[in-house]
Amino acid sequence: NINAEIVAVGTELLLGQIANTNAQWISEKLASIGINVHHHAVVGDNLKRVEEQFRISGNRSDVMIVTGGLGPTEDDLTREAFQQITGADIVEHEPAMKKIEAFFQKQKTDMTPNNRKQARVFAGSDVIENNTGMAAGMSLSHEGKTWFFLPGVPREMKQMMTYSVLPQLQQLAGEKMVIQSTMLRFTGIGESRLEHELRDLIHEQTNPTIAPLAQNEGVAIRLTSKAATSDEATDVINRTKQEILDRVGGHYYGVDDQTLEEKVLALLKKKDVSVGAAESLTGGMFTDKLISVPGASDVCRGGIVCYDTKVKENVLHIPEDLIRQYGTISGECAAAMAENACSLLKADIGISFTGVAGPDSIEGHQAGTVYIALHDQSGKQLTRKYTFAGNRQTIRRRTVTKGYELLFN
Ligand code: ATP
Ligand code: MG
Repeated sequence: NINAEIVAVGTELLLGQIANTNAQWISEKLASIGINVHHHAVVGDNLKRVEEQFRISGNRSDVMIVTGGLGPTEDDLTREAFQQITGADIVEHEPAMKKIEAFFQKQKTDMTPNNRKQARVFAGSDVIENNTGMAAGMSLSHEGKTWFFLPGVPREMKQMMTYSVLPQLQQLAGEKMVIQSTMLRFTGIGESRLEHELRDLIHEQTNPTIAPLAQNEGVAIRLTSKAATSDEATDVINRTKQEILDRVGGHYYGVDDQTLEEKVLALLKKKDVSVGAAESLTGGMFTDKLISVPGASDVCRGGIVCYDTKVKENVLHIPEDLIRQYGTISGECAAAMAENACSLLKADIGISFTGVAGPDSIEGHQAGTVYIALHDQSGKQLTRKYTFAGNRQTIRRRTVTKGYELLFN
């Protein structure tokens, strides 16, 4: 059971100028062949620090995949750093050199001497040919550990991973395994409550592993399983999924990329119930999400964006008196908005959103104060008050999510 580490070299990664997509891509590929990745490391273009990183990685991991720092410029130091700690000889690789020369001849430009650097490899290493760029890659063993060196350019790295590194690793790992992950999504339950309900499962279970995650749209549980075949991994995941749903299934709405609005749409469609919205602080976001789901026309009547008080009065017909008496940030106003959305839009259910998105207070109410109301054709009403934390966008998003949560229940 080998564990791999991905080491990305490049100061631009540390400066935040580019994201470490190499590590993400490589991790995904390694998971697909059942190889554990225990560490991602990022280090800048600095000889001492790259050396230090290589020592740390070489001590704790079995396989190192190093990307970046093989280029022609002074700050490309990967070879030198590895040489410092291993004493490996660096030699010019004839075929790689020929390729670089041919490239410059074809371009009809003079090759600067530093380009020779890209053909330099460790003596005794297996050279990984670079078909899309110039720097040659390498693999070699050192003190029982396996090292791969690849260029940082994603296109070159991916191609070399695919035809050379992954097949080698598959062999090294011996039996073929797959790692598979699934997200179970929940609403109307907090992360700590969810963890509490599943505590014993989370602690006892190693295949699949169970990890609760808090997310914008509620909470999720990630199940990760390792097995000989993808069918077997799916079986293992499904068994645990069933155990989880037996306990907290009432809050479950979907797997992986399924969204709460998709689920709500499906539920309403099944009940043959339509909705119409009156949206103040959400500005149409609720309706937009619903309409983004294919098949929305069966359920969604539409929405009225009634941000300004005058629009609440003139378009949505909220009585001036009501607003004078209670204000727009009130349960009374929310209830009237839901009722009028229901009748004006000829929907089975009206839903309304009014509140303070912030950052400033309105009518003496703090940012984050939100009222949501539901009203159905039979006259049944529900009004809820919430206090959401966060900036303007977060408050608006949470409001919309809460609206879907109310319709889900
Ligand atoms: P080359 O020999 O082709 O010059 P190199 O080994 O010198 O490659 P770098 O100079 O470190 O590689 O990086 C080349 C480019 O690849 C950078 O401009 C950067 O945008 C991209 N890159 C490097 N590392 C990563 C990474 N970890 N994730 C995504 N992109 C990366
Ligand atoms: Mg670099």
